Amino acid sequence: MARPVVAIVGRPNVGKSTIFNRIIGDRLSIVEDKPGITRDRIYGVADWNGKPFSIIDTGGIEIDGEDVILKSIRMQAELAIEEADVIVFMCDAKSGVTQADEEVAQILYRSGKPVIVAVNKVDNIERSDLIYEFYAFGFGDPIAVSGSHGTGVGDLLDGITDNLPELADDEYDEDVIRVALIGRPNVGKSSLVNAILGEERVIVSDVAGTTRDAIDTPFERDGQRYVLIDTAGMRKRGKVYETTEKYSVMRAMRAIERADVVLVVINGEEGIIEQDKHIAGYAYEAGKASLFVVNKWDVVEKDDKTMRQFETKIRDHFLFMTYAPVVFLSAKTKQRLHKLLPVVQQVAQQHSMRVQTHLLNDIVSDAVAINPPPTDKGRRLRINYATQVAVKPPTMVVFVNDPELMHFSYERYLENKIRAAFNFEGTPIRIFTRRKS
Ligand code: GDP
Ligand code: GDP
Repeated sequence: MARPVVAIVGRPNVGKSTIFNRIIGDRLSIVEDKPGITRDRIYGVADWNGKPFSIIDTGGIEIDGEDVILKSIRMQAELAIEEADVIVFMCDAKSGVTQADEEVAQILYRSGKPVIVAVNKVDNIERSDLIYEFYAFGFGDPIAVSGSHGTGVGDLLDGITDNLPELADDEYDEDVIRVALIGRPNVGKSSLVNAILGEERVIVSDVAGTTRDAIDTPFERDGQRYVLIDTAGMRKRGKVYETTEKYSVMRAMRAIERADVVLVVINGEEGIIEQDKHIAGYAYEAGKASLFVVNKWDVVEKDDKTMRQFETKIRDHFLFMTYAPVVFLSAKTKQRLHKLLPVVQQVAQQHSMRVQTHLLNDIVSDAVAINPPPTDKGRRLRINYATQVAVKPPTMVVFVNDPELMHFSYERYLENKIRAAFNFEGTPIRIFTRRKS
C-alpha cells in the first residue's frame, strides 16, 4: 500500500526539523542552532491514529549559489507541491510573518494541495494570540505548536491525517510488477529505462498513473507485465535540481512508495558513495523488494575477480540489505542486460510469497530447538507459534509469553532461519512479536 507523502516546508530556523523529529518520534535528523546545516536525515515514516504516512523535512534541501536561502525555499516549496499529498507550512511565532514566508505562500497558493499552517515556537500556550496574523495567508486555521515543549503536535497530526488522501492501491492489476529505478544523478537511470524498453520504446505510449500526475511506462516481456514507475520524473526534470542530493531523494520517495521492486542503480565506474546508502535505505524502510544494479560495467577494467570484489564492497556498505541480489550490466552497450528482468521477476515473487503456517512453525520450532532463546533475569522467552500476516513485504507475527523477552539478536536469528528456509531473496521481511500466553 503506497503511503501518502507529507512535506514540511518553510524558511530556515522556524523549527522544521524539530517538529519533524517530534513527529517521527526519534532524533534522526540533526538539529543545530544554525541555519543551512546539512542534514542527512530528512525522511521518516509516521503513523497517527492508525493512518500511516511518509514525512519529509524539506529543510534538508539546500542548493549552492547566490541568493541561496530564497532559492532553496522556493525549490522546497515547488518540490513539495509536486511530490507531497499534504503540505505543512511551518512559520515562527517569534518572528511573525516575514517576507520569505510570503514568498513560500505565493508558491503554495498555486498547488491545489492541502496546506496546513503550523506556527511554531508558541512556547506559552497562553500566547496563542500569536497565530492570528497567520490567518492572513488564507490557508485556514493556523495551528499553534511548540517544538521545544511538544505542545500542539497532536493537533498538527490531526490536521495532517484529516487531509490525507485515500491512495488507490489498485492502479494496476495484481500480476503487474511495478518497478522503480532509483539512484543519484548520472548513474544511468534514464539510459537503463531506454535500454530495457529498447525498440519497444516507440510503440509503447506512456500512460498517466491514476494517482496524481506520475507518468508510468508499461511493457511486457516474456509473458510478464511490468510498469516502470514515474519515468517522467527521470526525463522531464532539469539537471539543476537533480544534482541536489536531497532533491533527488525526495523525488525517489514517491516512486519507491508506488513500486514493488526497487532497482538501486550504482555507477560501477565510481563505486559506492554515501548518497547511494541514503537512497537504498529508503527502499529498505519502505519494505520494498530490491536489487542492486551496477551500471556502466562496460567501462570498468576487470578480471575474473572484479565482480566478486565489487559485490563484497556492496555487502560491506549495505549491511541492512544483504538480501538484495546484485546485477552487473551496461545500459550503454546492453552487455548483461538480459540478466536483469529475470531477477526482477524473481524478487517480486519472493516479495509476495506466502508461507503456510505449519511450515513456518516447523522452521521456528527447529530454530528454537537448535538455539533456545536466552533467559533474561531468570525468565525465558517462550514461542507459542508464528504466522505470516501479510505480503509485500512478507510479515510474520510471532506469539510469545512476553514480547519484552524477545531480543533483537534472537529476532535476527529467527529471521535468518526463516529466510534460509523459504529463500526470501531480494525482499526485506518483517517480524513482529505479540503476547499470547
Ligand atoms: P529548521 O531550520 O526550520 O529545521 O529549524 P530547526 O528545527 O533547526 O530549529 C531552529 C532553532 O529553533 C533551533 O535552535 C531550535 O532549538 C529552535 N526551536 C525549534 N522549535 C522551537 C520552539 O518551539 N520554541 C523555541 N523557543 N525554539 C524552538
Ligand atoms: P541518470 O541521471 O541516472 O538518468 O543518468 P543518465 O541515463 O542520464 O546517464 C548519465 C550519463 O552516463 C550519460 O552520459 C550516459 O550516456 C552515461 N551512461 C549511462 N549508462 C552508461 C553505461 O552503461 N556505460 C557508460 N559508459 N556510460 C553510461
